[in-house]
Amino acid sequence: LITQQSQEELYKVLKENLRLQETGQAEQQKLVVVSIAPQCRASLAAKYKLSVQETAAKLTGFFKKIGVHYVFDTTFSRNFSLLESCREFVQRYKESETNKTALPMLSSACPGWICYAEKTHGHYILPYISTTKSPQQIMGSLVKDYMATSRGVPANLIYHVTVMPCFDKKLEASRSDFYNDIYSTRDVDCVITSVEVDTMLQQEGISLNDVEPVEIDNIFTQIHEGQLLNHAGGGSGGYLEHILKYTAHNLFGQDVTQINYKVLRNQDFQEVTLEVPGQPVIKMALAYGFRNIQNIVQKIKRGKCTYHFVEIMACPSGCNNGGGQIRPEGEETPKELVDRVTATYNSIGNSLPDSLKTVVDVYNEWLGEVGSEKSRKLLHTQYHEVEKMTNALTIKW
Ligand code: SF4
Repeated sequence: LITQQSQEELYKVLKENLRLQETGQAEQQKLVVVSIAPQCRASLAAKYKLSVQETAAKLTGFFKKIGVHYVFDTTFSRNFSLLESCREFVQRYKESETNKTALPMLSSACPGWICYAEKTHGHYILPYISTTKSPQQIMGSLVKDYMATSRGVPANLIYHVTVMPCFDKKLEASRSDFYNDIYSTRDVDCVITSVEVDTMLQQEGISLNDVEPVEIDNIFTQIHEGQLLNHAGGGSGGYLEHILKYTAHNLFGQDVTQINYKVLRNQDFQEVTLEVPGQPVIKMALAYGFRNIQNIVQKIKRGKCTYHFVEIMACPSGCNNGGGQIRPEGEETPKELVDRVTATYNSIGNSLPDSLKTVVDVYNEWLGEVGSEKSRKLLHTQYHEVEKMTNALTIKW
């Protein structure tokens, strides 16, 4: 899997495209799309000491130079993931009186955590995990369904590559749930990490600093008036933050502007309580890294978890510290590098998931109304209990 889904596979597709063009068979070429995660952009920006905006333009320039047709940004698909997670939480909250596994809702965007839950805790934990797809897989649906249909290109003639902060994203892309039987194609064909992009630059004998910048394609990019935008809430994409604000507004008529986190055992385990005058109504937590995840899982198994939502990420410090991110060089410590990547990641402005007109337009055109059958099919997934395996994880705990 690791060799199949790698930069070598991307190079093979690009080489074949060139051959088809040179032999007059251009109509058989694959449309090559690369979608870049904002954490990877921040990792490469930190290595090359560039701004986020410069890095996006230089990565676009690099990928287009080697034959890629479109370059997008998975912050765009994260809007859909955040919106759908907010709605799912409110629905589960309303069902929680009659459905014992409706809450706590556990986040689903981290495949390191999902693999661990499926292989280690099976049926105890899976019902609690949000069914909303991750930004990578929603981008897969956007590219292979919305884009393919709107441009009249069969999905299997699109080759979709994502650039992601960890190797577990390769496992996620290869799940059978994300395979399109009609077109015999995966929603994401190939996943490469930040380190692998850096290897590509080295193989081409070029530094990112010297790449000619090209404007990123803005159909699936979180951009407004030329400025790239992010979501509040840090390197995870801010699932807790957005769900808390949405719930406070929609269920309790409160507009939360400032979230006050209480640090528990460490920075990777924090909680937030929403109070309506006089009483706490919603409690949520962030749990990053294996020890904190185990703590939450044990609490749920013993029926002692008091949280309504937990944002779970397998890597300590979250995706900015993923196993596929650029490693420190020289005297810089891993912690110093992660701090720099995080500062770079946070250096651009934020927007709300439904504030961009392009997001609203694509949602309406693609999925119709909120909660439609199509939105359930294309924005949600399922999990499977698998045989227990030890050392099954590819991530470093
Ligand atoms: Fe990958 Fe780590 Fe992010 Fe999970 S937290 S998605 S394992 S980088």
